[in-house]
Amino acid sequence: MGHVQPPPFVTMVRADNPGPMTLDGTRSYVLRAPGAREVVVVDPGPDDEAHLGALASAGAVALVLVTHRHADHTAGSARLHELTAAPVRALDPAHCHGGGRPLRGGETIEAAGVGVEVLATPGHTADSVSFVVSAPGEAPVVLTGDTVLGRGTTVISAPDGSLTDYLASLDLLEARGEGVLGLPAHGPAVEDLAVVVRAYRAHRLERLEQVRAATLALGVPSRAAVTDAVVDRVTAAVYADVDPAVLPAARQSVRAQLVHLAHGDVTGSA
Ligand SMILES: [Zn+2]
Repeated sequence: MGHVQPPPFVTMVRADNPGPMTLDGTRSYVLRAPGAREVVVVDPGPDDEAHLGALASAGAVALVLVTHRHADHTAGSARLHELTAAPVRALDPAHCHGGGRPLRGGETIEAAGVGVEVLATPGHTADSVSFVVSAPGEAPVVLTGDTVLGRGTTVISAPDGSLTDYLASLDLLEARGEGVLGLPAHGPAVEDLAVVVRAYRAHRLERLEQVRAATLALGVPSRAAVTDAVVDRVTAAVYADVDPAVLPAARQSVRAQLVHLAHGDVTGSA
């Protein structure tokens, strides 16, 4: 696959915080239509002075947007507001700063010469959003935060993540992502977002089948409470060869799948 570059109205600035969950580091994005004086920053990233300084000096920062609450995206929010005076807007009011109003799914923001449509895409966390960014004369792109990553798969985070919500969010991103460039907050750009979303869904459904089979093989009743002991037994069965560094994530993923399966049973759809 070729190396995909963002269009001229998007600049990626990667923080120096690599790790098993952040891949090569958090990718902040600076949005600015050609000729515009102001810029919009998406995801301040960690509270890292060099990174925040680079964002603050990318242009006159008019607005800061946040994809979701996780610290590798928001720990730098207060400091970036301090450096730029720009309001910080997130879906969760607790992550807004400087008078920034909470984001609403479906709203479109015009700033820095670009249009930013807010898509509510819960699942990774309850407050996860994606941004469809368009500029005059250019094909739109979708900033996916942690909902779709540049490689690997997304974790359904405790306590508010939901696999049921996540699968619905994948449907929305597939509908909006046909032939569209996806720009994740971790890992490289994805050339066709809908193609990657379909692969994510297939992977999720395959894992769900493995979890369902494991619960049957282990004799776990389908409506059993999702206890730590059940999660541990199913995780050991499904993720036998997993790197210990990502075992907590695997355990969390299994928990989310067991909750999803139990929910399906309760509503009679599974
Ligand atoms: Zn996250």
